[in-house]
Amino acid sequence: MEGEAEAKMTYSIATLGSHSALQILKGAKDEGFRTIAICEKGREKPYKSFRVADEIIIVDKFSDLPKIEKQLNGKNAILIPHGTYTGVLSQKEIEDLKVPYFGNRKILKWEYDRTMQREWLKKAGLTLPKIFKTPEEIDRPAIIKFFGAHGGKGFFLAKSAKEFYEKMEGKKGKPYMIQEYVIGAPIYAHYFYSPITDELEIMSFDKRYESNVDSIGRIAAKDQLDMGLDTSYNITGNVPIVVRESLLPKVIDMGEAVVKASKTLEKHGLFGPFSLETVITPELEFYVFEISARIVAGTNFYINANPYTDLRYGMPMSTGRRIAMEIRTAIESNQLDKVLV
Ligand code: AMP
Repeated sequence: MEGEAEAKMTYSIATLGSHSALQILKGAKDEGFRTIAICEKGREKPYKSFRVADEIIIVDKFSDLPKIEKQLNGKNAILIPHGTYTGVLSQKEIEDLKVPYFGNRKILKWEYDRTMQREWLKKAGLTLPKIFKTPEEIDRPAIIKFFGAHGGKGFFLAKSAKEFYEKMEGKKGKPYMIQEYVIGAPIYAHYFYSPITDELEIMSFDKRYESNVDSIGRIAAKDQLDMGLDTSYNITGNVPIVVRESLLPKVIDMGEAVVKASKTLEKHGLFGPFSLETVITPELEFYVFEISARIVAGTNFYINANPYTDLRYGMPMSTGRRIAMEIRTAIESNQLDKVLV
C-alpha cells in the first residue's frame, strides 16, 4: 500500500484554471495527488481562495500552454482537459502537446466539428434534430449555432431564410450549422466510461441557466414583442436535475451506443467523462443535439453530493474526483497507457 501511495504522489494533476478546474483539482487532492492550476494572469483568485491548488502557474494567455510543457513535465504532471482547451488551442496543438493527458485527444475533433459530431451520433443510432443545409430550406423554427465551444453566445433562432439573413448580419465568415429547434425539456446527461472496467456510469444531469433566454419568461408576451427582443443562449450557470426514473434505461442505452460508435472512429474511442445534450419531447423522445467529449461544467454543482454517484459510491464523488480515481486505479494496476492516450 505504501508503494502505491508513493506512486500516486509522484504525479501532479494539472489543468487550466477555468471551466471545471475547481472540482478537478479538489477531486485530485481527495485522491491524494499534488495539484497545479495553470491560470491566466488576473484570473487566479478562485484557485487561491478555494485552496484547491498546491501550486499556481501563471501564464499570459491560456493558449501559452504549449510553452510550459517542460515545466509541467518536470513536475510529472498529467493534464486534465475541459471545455476551455478546445476554445484556446487548435486540435493540432492539443494532439502535439508533449504532456501526459487524461483522455483520448484524437476524439476532441469529433466534438469540435459539428458535421463530424453528427456523423458520430448518427452512427450511434440516436435521434437528432433535422439539419437544414441552406437557409432556404428553413421551414420551421431553427437554431443557428456557430462551431466550437462558445457557450451558446451568438446563437439565434430563425423561422425563415429572410429572418436568417437579417440576423446573420455582422456574423458572416464564422462556420455555423442550422438545426431544427426541438420544443421540449432540455436535459444534459453526464457520463463516465472507464476503459479499465469497461463500464459506463451515469454521473449526473443538469440544465443550463442562460442569458437572456431564461429571463424572457419574466416579461409579459406583449412587452417582449414591443421590445423587439432576440433570444440569446449565453451560459451563465447550471441547475441540477434528477430525471424521471423510467427514463434512465434509455439514458444508459444512449451513452453505451455513443461509446461503442466512438471505437469505430478513433483507436481507443471515447473514455472518461462526456455528456449528451438532449431535448425530451412531450412524447418522451430524446433528441440529442450535441455531445461533449470531456467533462462538462454542468457537473460543477455536484462536488459534495449527488444522488447518482451516492448510489454507486456512497461518498462524495464529483466527476473531477472520478477522473482522479481512474488515474489512481490505472497507476496502481500499471494501466496508465489505457487512460493517457
Ligand atoms: P448548446 O450551446 O448547443 O448547448 O445550445 C445552447 C442552447 O440552445 C441550450 O439551451 C439548448 O437547450 C438550446 N438548444 C440547442 N440546440 C437545440 C435544438 N436543436 N432544439 C432546441 N433547443 C436547442
